[in-house]
Parts: sequence; C-alpha cells; structure tokens
Amino acid sequence: MKICVAGGGPGGLYFAICVKRKLPHAEVTLFERNAPNVTYGWGVVFSGRTQETLALVDEASAERMADEFVHWDTIETILETDSLSTSGYPFYGIDRRKLLNILTDRCLELGVEIHHDQELAPDDPAIRFYDLVVAADGVNSRFRSHLAEELGAREKFGSNKYIWLGTKAVFDRFRFVFKQSGSEWLWAHAYPFDRSTSTFIVECSKSAWERCGYRDFDSGPGCRRLASLFEDILEGQELLFNGVRMRGSHWDQFRQVECARWNSGNIVLIGDAAHTIHFSVGSGTKQAFDDAICLANAVSSNDDLQGALRYYQRRRQQELATLKAKGSCSMRWFEDAAGYADNLGVGDFERALLNRATNSDYEDEAVAAGR
Ligand SMILES: Cc1cc2nc3c(=O)[nH]c(=O)nc-3n(C[C@H](O)[C@H](O)[C@H](O)COP(=O)(O)OP(=O)(O)OC[C@H]3O[C@@H](n4cnc5c(N)ncnc54)[C@H](O)[C@@H]3O)c2cc1C
Repeated sequence: MKICVAGGGPGGLYFAICVKRKLPHAEVTLFERNAPNVTYGWGVVFSGRTQETLALVDEASAERMADEFVHWDTIETILETDSLSTSGYPFYGIDRRKLLNILTDRCLELGVEIHHDQELAPDDPAIRFYDLVVAADGVNSRFRSHLAEELGAREKFGSNKYIWLGTKAVFDRFRFVFKQSGSEWLWAHAYPFDRSTSTFIVECSKSAWERCGYRDFDSGPGCRRLASLFEDILEGQELLFNGVRMRGSHWDQFRQVECARWNSGNIVLIGDAAHTIHFSVGSGTKQAFDDAICLANAVSSNDDLQGALRYYQRRRQQELATLKAKGSCSMRWFEDAAGYADNLGVGDFERALLNRATNSDYEDEAVAAGR
C-alpha cells in the first residue's frame, strides 16, 4: 500500500507512526511545508488520560513525551486583584516544537519518508500514484478548500480576538488572568509547558481589541503594552512573540470548521483539517491523535478502503459530538466574559468559569450535535 500524508503536525505524524506500526510494509511518505524544527504556537496541554492512551498505542513516543511533560493540578482564577485556586485538575504541558520533534524522530525510526520544506497541493498530479492520501494540513487546509463542495465543508469565526504568546515566567499552575484596561477586559490563559517557558494566550472581545488600539499590533511595542497590563503575574518577564512561526504570531479569531464528509475518493481529512475545537478546552491535538489512531486501525484491518474510510468518519464524528458542543459552549462563555467580570465577585466568577462548558445550553447543543 502506498500512503501519502500532507502535513507534519501532530495528526499527520501520529497517523504515520500508527499506520507504519500496523502495516510495516506500507510505503508511507509525509510532506511538511515547513523546515524541521519550525512550527506555530508554544506549548499545549494534555489530560492524564491522553497520556495513558498514547502509551497503549506507541510506548516509545509516549515515553519520550513523558520525559518532557510538566505537570500541574491547580487552576487559579485571577479577577483583577482577587484570586482563587482550585485543585484536582491533573494536566500536562509540552512544547509543541518538542512534541513534533519526538514524533518526527519516531516516524523516521519506523521507516516513514519525510520531506520537509515541501508543500503538497491538492491538485498535484503525483497524488494519483497513492492508494491513500491523508490531508493533515491543519485548520487552513488547502485540501478541504479544494474539495469544499464534495465534503460539505462549513466554517465560521468566533467573535473574540486572541494572540498566542509565550513568556519566560514559569508558573506552577494553570492561570486565568482577567485584567481591565480602562473599561475593557482582556484576559490570559497561561500555563507552563517546560521548565523555563509558559504559554500566554491573550484574548478579548473585538471591540476591546479595537478600543485598546491592538488593531495596529506591532510585535515589540504590542507585546510590551500587553506585558505591562499583566505585569504583576509576569514576574518582570517579557511576553514573547513567535516571529518564526506562522499562526499565533498575530491576532486571530477562532475558526470553527465542520465537514459533513471527511473523504472524497482516496483523499481523507484528519485533525484540524476536518474539524476544530475551541482552544479553551485544550483538546485539538488530542483529537488529531485520536483521528490518527482510528484511521490507521480502520485502513489496516479492512481490505475495502472506502468501507474503512466510512467507518473512520462515522466513529470519530460520534466521539467528537460532545466535545465539540463543550468547545462551542466554552467559546461563547468567553465571548460574554466581560459581562461576567463586570458583575460577579471572584467566587461566583470562578464557579461560572470552571463550569462554562457544562451549562444547560451545552446539554441542548450536545443533543443537536449528536443528531
Ligand atoms: C491558541 C491555541 C492554543 C491551543 N492549545 C491547545 C492545547 O493546549 N491542547 C491541545 O490539545 N490543542 C491545542 N490547540 C489546538 C492544536 O494546536 C490543534 O488542534 C492541532 O495542532 C491540530 O493538529 P493537526 O496536525 O491537525 O494540524 P497542525 O498542527 O496545524 O499541523 C498541520 C501541518 O501541516 C502543514 N501543512 C499545511 N498545509 C500543507 C501542505 N499543503 N503540504 C504540506 N504541509 C502542509 C503545516 O505547516 C503544519 O505543520 C490550540 C490551538 C490554538 C490556536
């Protein structure tokens, strides 16, 4: 079997690992448009359960990830000068770049051919020589756009603005930090991902972003202005701008992606190319891994490729329905966050924040999403 993978993010790399383990004689070739060691963003979070799943699928890569994880189990909510902490949320953080390097090395050990600095176009004639083409090309997928009609692809944008920054301030917990700039609220989702660096995602409403003058964000001065707003928790450290990496180096709006169908002929979508989940529930990478595992199992245990692709889509769409609903609910909570911050004391605010994905709207949406 000849398999080609477009995209060397967590989804594409993990699929290549899984399928090579299941079908060692398959020829698996992966194309990544970036150079080695280059990616967007900073660190990502996993739950303890994700670690256990990965260890069952490929122990070698799971052990190397475990060596890099930083662990915490406390979430602190800071509302201006008041704060509350709640424990019992076991989470692990890892540098996205280190994660991709671990997965890339593991692919090479298993005999996957990797071509960096090479973008694969959906209309590339070479594609027809493969039995299966896995489009793992992320949220801005060219494969999805090219096949949009056949896939029934839909996109909509969240209304908030966010920017994915880093900092050398090291936290021992997840911190939600809400600060006022004049009458506008901005907040950070901050957490450690190695022993010297933390992720620092700043989010606000579009109107706050405009009124506070971040429309003309320029990396150096813009980061310094944001750092002064959050100075009491940054411990004198700067906010770091990811100039090399593409997404996350600018203010963005969350893009919600849905596809009615995940394959067209022998081209199949996985990860963010097929579906996205709001970053505030920290699960997009885990879902890309789960797609990869399910797809590799389906194609390796079924002689009928189309049947395998149908099974993969059905199973993963069912598994994702509840989480997608949680993600939408969480996204909407943050879109209304300024109102809660204006009107609630820190106790009620923390309770609303931590329960944001399980309110009654969510129940309705879970039912709707599962239809
Ligand atoms: C602010 C923010 C914070 C997040 N935090 C978390 C978190 O804490 N935990 C979590 O689990 N998830 C998190 N996520 C989500 C996570 O980043 C994504 O869900 C995950 O990266 C999806 O993996 P993927 O492999 O599908 O796509 P990507 O990681 O986007 O990888 C796609 C790859 O394909 C390459 N590519 C694109 N087009 C082509 C082409 N035509 N040919 C060749 N290569 C191509 C790209 O260069 C890229 O390397 C966060 C997302 C954001 C925006």
